[in-house]
Formats: sequence, C-alpha cells, structure tokens
Amino acid sequence: LEQQLRQAQKMEAIGQLTGGIAHDFNNLLTVIIGYTEMLSAAPNLDEARRHQIQTIDQAASRASDLTRRLLAFGRRQPLEPRKVEMNRLAANMEAMLQRTLGESIEIECVLAGGLWPCFADPAQIEAAILNLAVNARDAMPNGGKLTIETANTRLSEDYAVANADVEPGQYVMLAVTDTGTGMTPEVQARAFEPFFTTKEVGKGTGLGLSMIYGFVKQSGGHIKIYSEIGHGTVVKMYLPRALSEAEQAAAVPQSDTAAQP
Ligand code: ADP
Repeated sequence: LEQQLRQAQKMEAIGQLTGGIAHDFNNLLTVIIGYTEMLSAAPNLDEARRHQIQTIDQAASRASDLTRRLLAFGRRQPLEPRKVEMNRLAANMEAMLQRTLGESIEIECVLAGGLWPCFADPAQIEAAILNLAVNARDAMPNGGKLTIETANTRLSEDYAVANADVEPGQYVMLAVTDTGTGMTPEVQARAFEPFFTTKEVGKGTGLGLSMIYGFVKQSGGHIKIYSEIGHGTVVKMYLPRALSEAEQAAAVPQSDTAAQP
C-alpha cells in the first residue's frame, strides 16, 4: 500500500513537471515554426536554403507532436467534487488505517454529531487522510496515538486576515493528530513544499503534503499545521461545506423568484 502511495506521488509529480515543461516548450516551438514559415515564404530563396528551412520546420513539427503527447500524459486527472459525509468516509477507513499503521499505534476517531456534508473529491480526501496517517506513523517510531477528528467550523474574518488565502465561511474540519516527534519551525515552514523531505532516500518523496495542499486549495479549502517538538503534530484540513439544495437554489438567483425582504 505504501509502495503504491509513493508511486502515485511520483507519477503525480512527474505529470506536473512534464506538463509544465511541455507547455512552455510548445510555446517556444510555436515561435520557431512561425519564423520558419515566414522564411520559407521569402522570395528568391535558392534550393539549398529552402531545403535547410524545410528541415528545421520538419524537426520543429516533430518536436511539437512529441510535446503534445507529453501534455496528454501530464494532464492531471480532473477533480470530481461531490457532496461527502466526512464522518462516514473516515469511519470506513479506520480498519484499513489500523492495518497500515500497525499495532503499536492506537487509532481514535472523534466524529462530530450533526456534521455538515462537505464538497470535495472523496478519492482525494481518502488519499489525503492516508498520507497524513503515514506521516503520523513515521513520526511515531516507538508507537503512539493517532486521532482523527471532525467538526463543523466557521473560519472568521479575523482568521482569514491572519492566514493567507482563506475565505471566511463555513467549513468541515478534519484534524489528524499524532503524539510523535513534532516538527521544528523550520521544517513546519517548508512542509508543504514539493520534494521537501527530512526522510531518508527511498522512504520519503516530499510530495505528500504538497499534494494535499494542492487538492485542498483547488477545492476552495484551507490547511494548517500545528506542531510542537516532542509532543506531536496536528494537521487541520478545512473543506467547504456543501450547500443544501435549498441554499444552492438561493445562491443561483432566478428571475421569477424575487428575494423577499
Ligand atoms: P514525506 O512524508 O515524503 O517526507 P511530506 O510532504 O508528506 O513528504 O512531508 C514533508 C516533511 O514534513 C516530512 O519529511 C517530515 O519532516 C515533515 N512531516 C510531515 N508530517 C509530519 C508529522 N506528522 N510529524 C512530524 N513531521 C512531519
């Protein structure tokens, strides 16, 4: 399972890298192809020159074809956000997490009653929880406790001011807490960076948290780490509350349903 997780992280990163490079490279090729076309249209070209320009044009076109294929390979799987009952999703994962983390780690789920549904891709939420749990286990080599907690949360204007990129509003919070080594402020500051890892080669890719960050941001959510050396770490993930059908209807104003005072 871990092997699969690491493999998925690597493929995702390779996809992003190749996608980015292919995109930029294709723009450069467009310039080359554009100018060779202009050159070949010039009057009084001798046969040798025309052949040279044609050769440049053919090579550039082949390269362009290659980058198109790379782009197709690197294209990210689109997110499939849906209304998700986070409690049910977390509860369904508990047995699998216990098997993955081993007996030395106790798992507790503290699931809030009356939890709002959230709106996000359930497969990505599961991947995020698994990533966070594996990180927690790595931080507890001598065993410990992993707590998964959910809560309805209102992120206030004040909180949004104190934390970049947060929209104040209603969120479903999922917190993953461990009693592990904790992070130094330096590690905490860099934890979301792609490829940042403190783990030995082959154990960490440094992509887990950066992927979670990307997913949460794309979902209109927010993520925050609280950590204390020697005590442990809490990662809090906030996903937007899914609107009820009535609220959804209200959010899309219709011409025949004028708002009542
Ligand atoms: P990886 O786990 O492959 O190193 P991540 O992006 O998931 O990549 O994590 C980056 C770094 O953040 C880790 O190498 C580790 O130093 C730190 N980290 C992440 N989660 C925890 C945790 N629960 N406790 C302590 N440190 C953590």
